[in-house]
Order: sequence, then structure tokens, then C-alpha cells
Amino acid sequence: MLVGLLGLQGAFLDHIPHLDRCGATPVVVRDIQGLSRVDRLIIPGGESTVMTKFMVEFGMLEPLRARINSGMPVWGVCAGAILLAEQVDGKSGVLGVLSAQLTRNAYGRQIASDAISIRVPVLGLENYPAIFIRAPRIDTLDPSVTVHARREIDPVFVQEGNVIATTFHPELNSDDFFHRYFLDL
Ligand code: GLN
Repeated sequence: MLVGLLGLQGAFLDHIPHLDRCGATPVVVRDIQGLSRVDRLIIPGGESTVMTKFMVEFGMLEPLRARINSGMPVWGVCAGAILLAEQVDGKSGVLGVLSAQLTRNAYGRQIASDAISIRVPVLGLENYPAIFIRAPRIDTLDPSVTVHARREIDPVFVQEGNVIATTFHPELNSDDFFHRYFLDL
């Protein structure tokens, strides 16, 4: 299975060892042609404003939205979750394919990572060390969105059909639980 890593900016390379271990083939996607070749896509953590700028410049927004709407599985990590959301900081989101309202940098602007233990019942995890780096907070969700994990009361791992989002960075841990879940979508 060809798994695209949106490689315009950010932490896309960190997903490669996980995908290799899961038996999937990672492909760095930087344009529309690359996008058309992959079976699913990870939008990595990084800086959502920079990724948005490149996606607009390279004409990738419409083709990507169309593929997601036609059922391609997509996983947004942190900045990737921001790109997927319907509303960010009170304004229209970039892709608008996740029925969620987010606030950027809501947990502070720390550069150092903050590992917080979360429960993820869908993956059978009781104490998963979730790494948050300048993460967005998910403020509200439509009922069509399932919450798989929370940080205190805030949703941090959500799913709406073929779209999943984590506001933390599973690719920075050495396990493959989240990658396996994504590959099974
Ligand atoms: N704060 C970043 C943004 O707003 C997201 C940080 C991250 O992806 N780790 O895009």
C-alpha cells in the first residue's frame, strides 16, 4: 500500500520507520501528481501556515479535498489536524473536511515537548505518552465525529469516517499503534 506523506514542510520523515515496520510503502508527496499515486495520506505536524501557503501555490487544495471527500483515508497530525478542520481560530479552515472547531497553540507556545499520559481504549492503551508540541485544542465537534482519546476534557484523537486527527505526535514515539490504526481504515 502506498502511503503518502505530505512533504512540503514539517515532521513527515519521522513517519517512515513506522510505515516500514507496518509493511506499507511511504511516498513523499509534494505535488498533484504525487497525490494521485497514493492510497492514503498523512499530513504531518509542522507549521500549518507554511504548509497552507505551499498547498495553495502548488494547486493542491482542491485535488486533496476531492480525494478526501471521495473516501481516501487521511491522518492529520497536529498542524495536519489544523489543515483538516472546518474552523480554526474562528475562521474557515483550509480543507474543511473534519467537522471540528480548533484553536491554534492553545496549550502555550512551548518549544520543548510535553508528554502527557492519555487513555486510548480503541487501541487498548491505558497510559500512552502523548507528545504535544505547540498543539491546537479541539474546542467543539459535530456529533458525526468520534472522540477516541482526551487530554483531561479536550479531545486529542478524533475520527470522522475516513478522516482521523491527533493533536499530538505519535510518530515521535517508537510504537506503531496509531500507524496500524490508520492503515486499517
Ligand atoms: N503550532 C503549529 C501550527 O499552528 C502546530 C504545531 C505542530 O504541528 N507540532 O501549525
